Amino acid sequence: MTEQQYNVRVAHLYGDLMNTYGDYGNIIALRYYAQQIGVEVSDQLVSLGDDFNADNFDFALFGGGQDYEQSIVAPDLQRIGSEVRRFIENDGPIIAVCGGYQLLGNYFIMADGTRVEGIGAMNIYTENQATTRFIGNVTIKNPETGEEYHGFENHQGRTYLSNQERPLGKVVIGNGNNGEDGNEGVIYRNVFGTYFHGPILTRNGNLALRMLELALVRKYPTVDWHSKLANVTPEFF
Ligand code: GLN
Repeated sequence: MTEQQYNVRVAHLYGDLMNTYGDYGNIIALRYYAQQIGVEVSDQLVSLGDDFNADNFDFALFGGGQDYEQSIVAPDLQRIGSEVRRFIENDGPIIAVCGGYQLLGNYFIMADGTRVEGIGAMNIYTENQATTRFIGNVTIKNPETGEEYHGFENHQGRTYLSNQERPLGKVVIGNGNNGEDGNEGVIYRNVFGTYFHGPILTRNGNLALRMLELALVRKYPTVDWHSKLANVTPEFF
């Protein structure tokens, strides 16, 4: 009998338009860890005009982009919005970075004041700051797990969470979501939103392993993924 081949199918949402600072590296990191436990990771670009069927994917990456790219992506995202929301409500794991993170919320305001509608998959919203940006290295700590994450932020948007979400971490160094409430990023179901480029999963192997486990447990619930992943060493850059 041949060993069962496990796989994780990644949707790279608008990856040709939203890929600031090599956000695709998040998929490379996921694959790097997955192959160490015999799991294949495939990825497929889902962009303007493409179908997105939530049942065909086990993980999604929605990377960052500038206001201009976001204004092109936003109307098309409405077209597949209900399917993205279904993926999320069925506990599909998503890493959403910066511009992608903003578009999963209710709305964001561009630097020039234009309001862009998100798909309201999370009850968050993003205001603007007309003349300044948050740029630099960030360190955060997740209060529940005690894990620290490192990244690089470059955004004008100021994002605010509701009481239905929790932050990915509390800011130790840097600005985070909005420079005032000490929150960075979001966790909602299995959605991890963040302003961290770097890419985040490459620099933070602990988070990559956490997300890989979520995807595998959801897809193959009878396998003890936690024990398998305990043998994999997370790397940090
Ligand atoms: N346009 C957004 C902002 O500046 C997103 C930037 C990004 O994805 N790096 O807030």
